Amino acid sequence: MEIAPGVHAVRLLNVYAFLVDEPQLTLIDAGLIGSAGRVQRQVERIGRSLDDLARIICTHAHPDHIGGVRELAGEREVEVLMHPADLDGLSVGLRDVVANRNRGQLIAYFTRHPGEATPIEDGQVLPILGGLRVVHTPGHTPGSICLYAKRHKLLFVGDTLQVIRGKVTFASRVFSEDLALARASVARMAELDVETIAFSHYPPLRDGANEVLRGLADRATAMSESRRRAASL
Ligand SMILES: [Zn+2]
Ligand SMILES: [Zn+2]
Repeated sequence: MEIAPGVHAVRLLNVYAFLVDEPQLTLIDAGLIGSAGRVQRQVERIGRSLDDLARIICTHAHPDHIGGVRELAGEREVEVLMHPADLDGLSVGLRDVVANRNRGQLIAYFTRHPGEATPIEDGQVLPILGGLRVVHTPGHTPGSICLYAKRHKLLFVGDTLQVIRGKVTFASRVFSEDLALARASVARMAELDVETIAFSHYPPLRDGANEVLRGLADRATAMSESRRRAASL
């Protein structure tokens, strides 16, 4: 499915990755372990080869997003880009997991390390789609990022937003490390001019994306104010 000119959604097991068809191929997320074959088929479907894959950008370090990195990048010269806050978390040892009983650390422990990665920071503009901006939107994980392609008014949101019963809403309660922070991060998305939201686990949204993002940002503000008020009573 082409979600913007040269941008293909690749259906992997339970998650979408995105393939950007430029002289140097870029993949956004890499699915679970065992996803390389599906990625390769999609690459070949558009008449390209995995040898053209220059980089994989990871929206965050959950196993359904970075599991396939090693099998795709391992033997080739593929740059892996990720926010350092998630990369650091991946080095967690079993001792920490047991001691802290932290769900994020538990997930990290069972996630296959992607190997060497280049850190990317908020505000950085990558040479993809005429300028792909990194927007740090922590909360789902500490290093969750969105990627914004101004040329197409296209925003890749990873797992920072989900769709429940047809409505866009905040990140998953179950799988997010800091929900309040995840909600607050939506304000960063609402600053952008967005026509298409590309989710990792749902089909893209093309109608009223700006309104949806602003509505969620307002809701996040209202929720944090009412919590603050309740806390001060
Ligand atoms: Zn996910
Ligand atoms: Zn996730």
